[in-house]
Amino acid sequence: MTSTTDTHCPYCALQCAMRLESRPEGSVTVSGRDFPTNKGGLCQKGWTSAALLDAPDRLRMPLVRDTKGGPLREASWEEAYARIVRGVRAAREVGGDDAVAVFGGGGLTNEKAYLLGKFARVVLRTRYVDYNGRFCMSSAAAAANRTFGLDRGMPFPIEDLASAGAILLAGSNVAETMPPFVQHLARARERGGLIVIDPRRSATASLTDDGNGVHLQPLPGADIAVLLGILHVIIASGDLDQTFLQQRTTGWEEVAARASTWWPERVERESGVPASQIRRAAQLLAGSVDEGGSFVLTGRGAEQHARGTDTVQAAINLALFLGLPRRARGGFATLTGQGNGQGGREHGQKSDQLPGYRMITDVAAREHIAGIWGISPQELPGPGVPAVELLHRLGTPDGPRMLFVHGSNLAVSAPNAERARERLTALDTLVVCDIVPSETTEYADVVLPTTQWAEEEGTMTNLEGRLLRRRRAQPPPNGVRDELQIWHDLALLLGSNASFSTAASEVFDELAAASAGGRSDYSGTSHLALDAAAVGPQWPVGTDSSSTPRPFIDRFSTPDGRAVLHDVVPGRPSDDLGDHFELYLVTGRLLAHYQSGAQTRRVAELVGATPGAFVALHPLTAQRLGVDEGELVEVTSRRGSAVGIARITRDLRPDVVFMPFHFAKLQAANNVTSDVTDPVSGMPEFKVSAVQVRAVDGA
Ligand code: SF4
Repeated sequence: MTSTTDTHCPYCALQCAMRLESRPEGSVTVSGRDFPTNKGGLCQKGWTSAALLDAPDRLRMPLVRDTKGGPLREASWEEAYARIVRGVRAAREVGGDDAVAVFGGGGLTNEKAYLLGKFARVVLRTRYVDYNGRFCMSSAAAAANRTFGLDRGMPFPIEDLASAGAILLAGSNVAETMPPFVQHLARARERGGLIVIDPRRSATASLTDDGNGVHLQPLPGADIAVLLGILHVIIASGDLDQTFLQQRTTGWEEVAARASTWWPERVERESGVPASQIRRAAQLLAGSVDEGGSFVLTGRGAEQHARGTDTVQAAINLALFLGLPRRARGGFATLTGQGNGQGGREHGQKSDQLPGYRMITDVAAREHIAGIWGISPQELPGPGVPAVELLHRLGTPDGPRMLFVHGSNLAVSAPNAERARERLTALDTLVVCDIVPSETTEYADVVLPTTQWAEEEGTMTNLEGRLLRRRRAQPPPNGVRDELQIWHDLALLLGSNASFSTAASEVFDELAAASAGGRSDYSGTSHLALDAAAVGPQWPVGTDSSSTPRPFIDRFSTPDGRAVLHDVVPGRPSDDLGDHFELYLVTGRLLAHYQSGAQTRRVAELVGATPGAFVALHPLTAQRLGVDEGELVEVTSRRGSAVGIARITRDLRPDVVFMPFHFAKLQAANNVTSDVTDPVSGMPEFKVSAVQVRAVDGA
C-alpha cells in the first residue's frame, strides 16, 4: 500500500514543504505542499530529491582502511567501532582530550546538532568542535548578535515580504539558490523596488530588468562603500528615522559621521557603481518605508569576506537608520543557506557556544548545561577555535590527531582546499559519517553509513527561525544506522555514563530543556506539539508556548534593549591584485546543485542540467586572454588552480570571473579560494580571490 508522509526538502534553508508517496516496491514520489516559504512550489533539486534515497553507490556497510594509502574495505559495525575506540585512546595517550576533534554540519537536524555537541564535550571531552556553518552563516550571526543581541536570521515571517515596496538583496542569488523565494519579491518588483547588489548580473540581478528595480554591480569587496553611499543619501535627504535612532539605538552618530564622507561620486570611484544608481537605490528604500515596507537582506555574497561581519553591519546600519526593525512591515534579515543553517548554530556544535545559543564562557550557562548533562561545570571544556583554525591545527604537533566529520565534505568545501586536504592526510585517524562516498571519505580511515532525510525523525529550523518536523517516510537500508544510534553506541564503548537517547523526540525534549531561558528557547514545544500544528512556530518558544515572530518591534535583545550600531570602514580584499593575478574570482551556487555537490552530483537530472564546472568571463577579458567560448580554461590564485569550460558573458564586469563551487578535484573552485578569515566571525574570504586565467593548451 502506498504511504504518504509530510516532510520538508533535504537541501536548503527555505525548507520547502513536500509530500512523499512511498510505494511498496520502493519508489518514492515527491510533490510540493503549501507552506509559508514555498507556497507549494519546489525547485529542480527538491523535485528530484528522492533519487538520493536509492543512489547506486549509497553507503550500506561501514568501511575501514587498514593502512594509510591502502583501500577502504567493508567491515562490521563492531569492527568499525573498535577501530574508532582504539583511535580515540591512542590519540588521547599522545595529546590528551583535545587530541580528538569534531566537525559538524548545518544540514544536521536540531537533535543531531545538539547531540553532536554533547558527544564532543561530554564523551570526547574535547574543546575542538566546530562545523561548516562557520563557512556559511558566521558573519551574519556575529553582526546580528553584536547589534541586536540575538541572531535569528529572519526576525519576521517570510510572508511579510509579500507586501514590500522595496527589497534590497546584498549578495544573494535566490533565483538560483532557492527559486520559490522569488514569489516573495513579486510586489517589490511590481513597484520597481527590487535592489540587487552583486558583482555579477546573476539570475536574481536580472529580475531588476524592465523597470523592476536596480542592479548595483560593484567591484568585489566594495559592498561596504556601496552601503555607506546609500546611507549617505538617506541621511542627506532627511529620510532617516531620527526618533527611533535616538530612543532605541546607540552608536548611530559615529556611523552618520562616517557616511557623511561617502558621497555617491566617491563611492562610484571606489566601487564602480554609478552615483545615479546609489541615489536611486536610496530613494527606492526610503520611499517605501511607509508604503508596503522596505527590507534589507544579505546573503553569502556580502558575508563570505575577511570583513564579512563589517559588511553585514553596514547593511544592518542602513536598516536601522530607516527604522525598519520597529515596523510590522520592514526589517533586516540574512538569508540562511544550509537546510538547518539556523538550528545548526543554536544547539552547541559551534566552538564558542552551548545549547540555547549560550556563550560557552558564560558561567551561568556552563552551570545550566552541565546540570542538564550530569557533569560539573569544571568538566565542561572551554571554547575551541573556529573551523578554519581547527583545520589548520589538524595533525600538527600540538593539534588534534583524530577527527570525526558529520555532514560535511571538507575536501571540496573548505577554503584553500589543498591545504585542508593536506591536514586531513596528516591525521592519525579520520572518521567520516555520510550517506554516500565523498571526496572526504577518500581520506577516511573509518566510514560509517548513516540515515538521510526521508529515513529519519527530527526537527529543522528554517531561515525564518521556524521549527518544522522532518519525518521518516521509509526505513533506511539494512546496515545503515542513525547518528543518534552511533553516538549512543560510541558513548557506551568509550565508557561514558551520560544519557544518549536514540529516540529523536526524547533528544528534542532534552534539547528543549537545555535551551530554556537561552537566546533560542525551544522549551515550550515538542515533537508532539509540532505534529499538531499546521505550521510550526518561530522561536523563541518559551514555556508559555507563545512564539515571537517579530522580536524587535518593541525592544532589542541587548542588555539595555537598544540596538548597537558599529562604525565600519570600507577596505580592500585580503587578496591583492598584482604579480600577474589581475582578475577577481567570485564563486557561487547554481540552480541544479547544492553545496559541495556530494548529493546533487549523483542525481541524473541535475547532472544533465549542469554536468561540470565553468568559468564565466566578460567578452573583453576573453578577447584579451585569447579564450574562446567552450574552451577549457584554468583559474589560478596564489594557492592553487581549478579548471572549467569558458562561458563568455556580459553578465560580469571585465575585471571579474565567476566559478560555481559544487565540483570536485581539478574542477574545485575552493582549490583557488582564500583561507584568510574575518577576525570577528572566523568566516573565510571565499568571495574574493585574485587570479589569473589562461586557456589550457591542447584541450
Ligand atoms: Fe529544496 Fe531549497 Fe529547492 Fe526548496 S528551494 S525545493 S528547500 S533546494
